Amino acid sequence: MLVARFADGRLYTLSGKASRDTLKKLRTEMNFYCPSCGGEVRLRIGDITIPHFAHLSLALCASFSEPESQQHLEGKLLLKQWADTQQLDSRLETYFPAIRQRADLLLQQKTAIEFQFSPIPFSEVLRRSAGYDSLDLAVHWISGTTAVLNDGIQVVKIKHYETGFFERVDNLLYFRVFSPTARRFYYFSHLIHVSGTKWIANVTSLPLDRQHFPFLVPSKLSLHEFQKLLRLYKEERHRFIRSQVHVRRKYQDPFWLCTYELQLDRDNLPPIIGIPLPDSYLFRKHAVIWQLQLLAALQKGKSVEVFLKGQDFSKISRGKAEAADTLARRYLAVYKRWHEEKMTAGELDRLIGEIACKSL
Ligand SMILES: [Zn+2]
Repeated sequence: MLVARFADGRLYTLSGKASRDTLKKLRTEMNFYCPSCGGEVRLRIGDITIPHFAHLSLALCASFSEPESQQHLEGKLLLKQWADTQQLDSRLETYFPAIRQRADLLLQQKTAIEFQFSPIPFSEVLRRSAGYDSLDLAVHWISGTTAVLNDGIQVVKIKHYETGFFERVDNLLYFRVFSPTARRFYYFSHLIHVSGTKWIANVTSLPLDRQHFPFLVPSKLSLHEFQKLLRLYKEERHRFIRSQVHVRRKYQDPFWLCTYELQLDRDNLPPIIGIPLPDSYLFRKHAVIWQLQLLAALQKGKSVEVFLKGQDFSKISRGKAEAADTLARRYLAVYKRWHEEKMTAGELDRLIGEIACKSL
């Protein structure tokens, strides 16, 4: 941690400005305490590590996980320094007793920044976001990385908890990654879920000194650029379908069951099965599977509501049920048009592109 209290209650912030010698002197003169639990903390000053505070005993502190990685400390410090150059009102590690949470950085007294370097439970992301919401604070989650990323449309790994960091502008889904080493933000946008942690995204980088507040949002892809993303998606879709041919226990496999019920040729699935749509990740399974399951359910006379009740998206987040309902109905509308207008694969691609890009 970078902020501690003196015995008299004043806060002291390690903002990176004081020299190591100054800090070493300070350490001999003062005691420091954790602003949230009140426990004693020690000022650590190594030759390589960033000077920081660490609890002498962590047993009673609920709002801090230690040891804190150097990248996390460095990232917080860089974001604080960036906020200073932007002349923003900013406070590092601001503790909110009412919700017993600590924001890595508070901007303009109304926006909490959570800079997350290590994996946390998805439920914890939701809990903390709800905490800030209850105080009428906005929250932006930023995922930390040490990887060097290239710009462009590509397959990326996004862990489940990171889906809790997603933000959106209309249909454009994105989230921010920050590399303290590269001093760069990476925006992952136009996110299309493939399966598991595999996604397709357009990655664009932004040097820290060019970031603004409110944070910049990624620019939209043109329809033409989106088709490139779609080509990559289709390769992944094809690979997924091929992998399904060899599954064991075919009699309980959703791919085999649904294609059987719908009397579809598994080697030649129509292009309407497994199309990428915004929010498709809510079902947490490949689009080929949930779309087959939806069509099979309707064929059996079930309603969309009944189909949705059988899905586990409800565990993802409150308020997502509505988005999943919209998603299912959007798929059926596209399916209907594809069927009635006897669309070619090219026409279907265009329609998918329009849905993804139209309201950006
Ligand atoms: Zn503490």
